[in-house]
Amino acid sequence: MAALCQKCNKEFHPSNLIAGMFCFPCYKKVLKSAKRGTKILGFFASFYLITPIIAGIVSLLIILAGLSWLLTLYAAIWIFISLIGAFPHMHGVMTPKKVEETERNYEDQLQKYIPGKISYCHYHPTREAIGRCGMCIKPFCTEDFYFQRIRIPKGPYRSYSFEQPAYCLKCGDDFKNNIKISPILFTLLSVGIFLFFELFYPDSSLYTIVVLIPLFICVVALPLGFLYLRGKLYRKSF
Ligand SMILES: [Zn+2]
Ligand SMILES: [Zn+2]
Ligand SMILES: [Zn+2]
Repeated sequence: MAALCQKCNKEFHPSNLIAGMFCFPCYKKVLKSAKRGTKILGFFASFYLITPIIAGIVSLLIILAGLSWLLTLYAAIWIFISLIGAFPHMHGVMTPKKVEETERNYEDQLQKYIPGKISYCHYHPTREAIGRCGMCIKPFCTEDFYFQRIRIPKGPYRSYSFEQPAYCLKCGDDFKNNIKISPILFTLLSVGIFLFFELFYPDSSLYTIVVLIPLFICVVALPLGFLYLRGKLYRKSF
């Protein structure tokens, strides 16, 4: 039985596809772009906890300078920056440290990997593995996997549903435990500060609604999205 790598479309035994989707060479590229992404997020995350303070101080300076028409624009930009910074605080897997850990696991498993040879479950050495965990990269059988349904794009307007053996039980629990909703409070605090100033200097109310409502929706959607991610993982019953 062979399965396709979703990136290079070459055939592999499923026990050597990482997260049920990628061959070893392709996963190296996946990790490389993940690392780049987490570095950018990490920059914004580094000052996330003081974003409400900066929101307050700069708003005050804008008003003192008599430029209150600038307030909505500043609010929009700042809430956006704050949302980017919130990501790694809410999703512990999206940090450079975590990606580096996965890279080390990858190199470890690459040493043991023999192309063309079937890999067996890390816990059940007599069972053929059905995939490799996306974080520890070890091979596992059905019983040891958390699955999730994802949609894979196929052509510009079509996609198909794919059942992905995503993480082993240990890494899957780690993934779930690292998703936290509370850090969104810092963004909400910034939003509160902006609303306070807008109420006292309401010279751009329509503009405020048009620009800020979509951002407020994002502020609500972000934690819901993370809760959804956490709830998506399931085990197969026997
Ligand atoms: Zn590939
Ligand atoms: Zn794992
Ligand atoms: Zn097993």
